[in-house]
Amino acid sequence: MTATAPREEQLWSRCAGCASLLYRKRLRRNLDVCPECGEHARLGAPERLRQLVDPGSLRLLPDRLPEADPLDFVDVLPYPHRLTGARASTGLAEGVVCATATIGGHPVALAVMDFRFLGGSLGCAVGELITRAAERALDDRTPLVLITASGGARMQEGALSLMQMATVSQAIAALREAGLLTVSVLTDPTYGGVAASFATNTDLVLAESGARMGFAGPRVIRQVTGRALPEGFQTADFLLRHGQVDMVVQRRSLRGRLMALLAATRAGRPARSPVPRQEPASHRERVADGGAVLARPTEPAAEGDAGTPAVGDAWDTVRMARHPGRPTTLDYLDSVFDGFVELHGDRLGADCPAIVGGVARLAGRHVMVIGHQKGHTTAELVARNFGMASPSGHRKALRLMRLAARLGLPVVTLVDTPGADPGVSAEEQGQAAAIAENILTLTVLPTPVLAVITGEGGSGGALALAVADRVLMLENAVYSVISPEGCAAILWPDRSAAPQAARALRLTAPDLRRLGVVDEVVSEPSSAAHDDPAETAHRLRAALLANLLPLLDVPPAILVRQRRQRFRRFGANRVGARAGLR
Ligand SMILES: [Zn+2]
Repeated sequence: MTATAPREEQLWSRCAGCASLLYRKRLRRNLDVCPECGEHARLGAPERLRQLVDPGSLRLLPDRLPEADPLDFVDVLPYPHRLTGARASTGLAEGVVCATATIGGHPVALAVMDFRFLGGSLGCAVGELITRAAERALDDRTPLVLITASGGARMQEGALSLMQMATVSQAIAALREAGLLTVSVLTDPTYGGVAASFATNTDLVLAESGARMGFAGPRVIRQVTGRALPEGFQTADFLLRHGQVDMVVQRRSLRGRLMALLAATRAGRPARSPVPRQEPASHRERVADGGAVLARPTEPAAEGDAGTPAVGDAWDTVRMARHPGRPTTLDYLDSVFDGFVELHGDRLGADCPAIVGGVARLAGRHVMVIGHQKGHTTAELVARNFGMASPSGHRKALRLMRLAARLGLPVVTLVDTPGADPGVSAEEQGQAAAIAENILTLTVLPTPVLAVITGEGGSGGALALAVADRVLMLENAVYSVISPEGCAAILWPDRSAAPQAARALRLTAPDLRRLGVVDEVVSEPSSAAHDDPAETAHRLRAALLANLLPLLDVPPAILVRQRRQRFRRFGANRVGARAGLR
């Protein structure tokens, strides 16, 4: 943290709420809340920490990680230039500041995101630092307090930024198992991958007054639905009304509320942990010193790996992945599996048609299959909402995953979605939290989980079914943190740059195999899956069996530990050093 001397123009600032000209010092004394209208100005992480923790108690955790530009991402600016600019303007090493401290005498570990740093975006380094803060809480047996502020995933790190949602979520899961409190404080704005993971899968979710939180942003929802948004959409009060946060808190009350919650939960805390720690201490130490490489179930493949078929341009692959003739989940349930019995409903009031699931047999073995369902005709696509799951779809999937674990059935997921449903009601029904809970649950599900990206693997909606022991991907499928069109609209002048964005995002199966996001690429017939669905089904079935059978003999505790290691390895220090996509 660096203190900068106040410059002349910083003596006064204009309120974003009421446009009053305010004396900076007075504003700061009022915790950066406008005395005229109550507008809560955004706070940088250092100032937030200063407001929340007991004076003299702050101990910053290390924030330096090796440089990582795993994709060599270039839009109009190379990614390293954007990083350098963000560091210069904020004085921070990354978009999160992590520390231990006390709040009202209660020891906590904290991770405070800073929106000024590339929009608080969740990249590998941010994910790694927050995960370490959570691991520190586990070591110290203290609660974890997360202050979120983020536009979402960091596009420049592609699918690796998506993986951070799983990495941090499993650290939250470990705290949940250890009986340690996790609290997130939503500040303005909290969107996308952060909203759909650790911002909402904590025990308690507080929203600072005026904060907005959602999975899809208002601009995207307006574009997709063509409808005006309801008054106050996604604001803290909206979230409270729709049951998504525990409380809305004024900034001046935040410290007091945290103290009260920490005191209450400390009083009820069990004397010792009911669940042993997930990772041996030696592992955490090796991670903390930044040098070690974990034992990994699958090493990222080297360039030209024999198991990695060559493909053409990424944009061609995107178009193939979206081809309406491409086999759907129901097609595969018919061709790859036997005796599918569909199970319906989330038990909370809805049955989402974009997710199908149920019990089936794979070569005589019973499995639970859950997948996104698109369709081949416009009518089918509309009826299935184009494979975009609503929160009820994610909750149906969650119900079936838990049922599978209880029955001892392995889970096979088939992922084919442009993304989660970008709609008003989806946000009202807690889209972000529904995805977040699935991701967390999959990190600890005590049964084998095998995921296949069969078509489009679109961002958090895809990951909600793809935290697995083994992740397979059909040759012409794509898996990405954002659609190429969406990425182009943000980082390039316009959406017509989608083909360039598709290349930059490294969303093809061979690229993701090299990055270790995917364990195996399932080759398609010489043309593509839709030209020979029977042969595609034959190959998929063989790949499923080859990957599933070895998992069946692994005791659940070991399975879960290995799954956690699989997702723990996507942190900045390991990825940056070795991905080497040149
Ligand atoms: Zn104001």
